[in-house]
Amino acid sequence: MRGVHNESKKEAYDVVVIGAGIGGLSTAALLAKAGKSVLLVERHDRPGGYAHGFKRRGFHFDSGVHLVSGCGSDGYLNGSTIHKICLAVGIDPQAIFIPIPAYARAVYPEFEIPLHTGEEAFITGLTERFPEEKDRLLALIRLCRVLAEEAMVADEILEQGRSATISPTLALANLFRYRRATLTEALDEFLVDARLKSACASLWPYLGLPPSKLSFLYWASMIAGYTYEGGYYCQGSFQTYANLLVAAVEEQGGEMLLNSSVRRICVEQGKACGIILENGQVIRAETVVSNIDARQTADLLIGREHLPEGYGESLAKLNSSLSVFVSYVATDLQLAEQAHSHESFFFDSFDHEAGYALTREGRPNWFSATLPTLADPSLSPQQDQHILLLTTLCPFEIGSSWRQAKQGFQQRLLEKAERHFPGLNDHLLLVESGSPRTLERYTLNHQGAAYGFEPSPDQVGPNRPGVRGVLQGLYHTGHWTRPGGGVAGVSVSAQLATQAILDIPKQADFWRFLGLNV
Ligand SMILES: Cc1cc2nc3c(=O)[nH]c(=O)nc-3n(C[C@H](O)[C@H](O)[C@H](O)COP(=O)(O)OP(=O)(O)OC[C@H]3O[C@@H](n4cnc5c(N)ncnc54)[C@H](O)[C@@H]3O)c2cc1C
Repeated sequence: MRGVHNESKKEAYDVVVIGAGIGGLSTAALLAKAGKSVLLVERHDRPGGYAHGFKRRGFHFDSGVHLVSGCGSDGYLNGSTIHKICLAVGIDPQAIFIPIPAYARAVYPEFEIPLHTGEEAFITGLTERFPEEKDRLLALIRLCRVLAEEAMVADEILEQGRSATISPTLALANLFRYRRATLTEALDEFLVDARLKSACASLWPYLGLPPSKLSFLYWASMIAGYTYEGGYYCQGSFQTYANLLVAAVEEQGGEMLLNSSVRRICVEQGKACGIILENGQVIRAETVVSNIDARQTADLLIGREHLPEGYGESLAKLNSSLSVFVSYVATDLQLAEQAHSHESFFFDSFDHEAGYALTREGRPNWFSATLPTLADPSLSPQQDQHILLLTTLCPFEIGSSWRQAKQGFQQRLLEKAERHFPGLNDHLLLVESGSPRTLERYTLNHQGAAYGFEPSPDQVGPNRPGVRGVLQGLYHTGHWTRPGGGVAGVSVSAQLATQAILDIPKQADFWRFLGLNV
């Protein structure tokens, strides 16, 4: 980054992007590449949002993100979005994203399930104990792939609106059929054994809802991503990717402000026309892209007096996702790849619904442990030292202040971790924790919501706020807009927002315009 600035050099840009989460960064880099003059404004002292990293005593920690998909060239039709964004803006994806074929395992009291990239590996891992269900699981995972492909086409059609040239009911038959389905309903349709259904749903914490409440379509896109595109970690932490996206903006003449909050979006004659920074500087722009919480954009940055009647109320009715409690641990306990994997989920039972209910009460009976140093040993200052991130979903309100509750929460997580990593508590080099309050403080996501609006069937697809804002000149990117949360999701939102701003409805035309051979 070319130094830290909190005042912009110019008074006018083509585009101002508010917030430098991966959604905002990707949108800014794509628009800069397309020839727009871009100003990116971030209130934190570094870019990345939930993908930012921090350093303690030589250890590089990711504040949030552990694993992403969509970084390789192979995948499903219209997928590999992060890979394409990288190529379009001049980042070599192979140089930074480390493939992790055995990306996760789910540990239950009775047995352990490996979660691996590749159709065959995924099915073999899950059905070792349920061989008679192999064909049924194959049908399910192939449907997920089809749904992920149809979802990308649906986004194109949604953005084309009435001018769409394809009939949605013909091209998107599966999407239409499952549009209201929960994950539970889909698992019941395809699988028989209740334990296999639970095992198959093991990644529900990645989307913040249990199977009975989770959109099958959104889960299908995620699981298709990890199965067909693979799981990846970023060399040097995900901060590396955020920094490279900033560099891509700057290489095209764009500008980045850090430690700089947007106080207001300017509106004239019903059109967004610029911003006012916290320091009072006014910057004009014909396009304003918000990467921040949708309700804050409406209520705090714009003001309901400028918005269509009922819009603020309709946003207020949507449910936010849960937050997360993370303990950032450095340890010199010997942790070998043979026994552990990048990501491990430890569940006390197969009953994810009960697990979610306890989670909502602030008493989760499960947690995940991420070991990024297996993929990238350079994150720790010495060999044989590891980073371990202990994570669980968590509500913001727990009946007492997080200042008081944090220590106890951390202690309980460390005690649970001790059962699976014996000796851990005698080998702690460093422990620090982030509560929902910490996440909110760093990103201003409402109550530290981890994934924007929760991905229930009635809050995805056309039911989720789109990338085109309700004012002319206003756009959205990130996990409060379509398609939804997670780094792969917000990367797709960046693609959709940029297409909308450049007015290139077809994805293939868009990538070709940016120089990709698709
Ligand atoms: C602990 C945790 C772990 C996660 N793990 C994973 C994972 O392993 N894989 C995965 O795919 N997803 C993961 N997620 C979800 C994923 O991180 C998010 O969905 C995604 O990163 C959100 O990106 P975003 O573009 O919406 O922006 P955000 O990350 O929400 O960033 C928004 C940015 O806007 C800035 N901002 C806010 N208000 C203003 C203002 N007024 N002026 C200027 N700047 C402002 C904030 O400071 C912030 O930097 C995780 C989330 C959490 C919380």
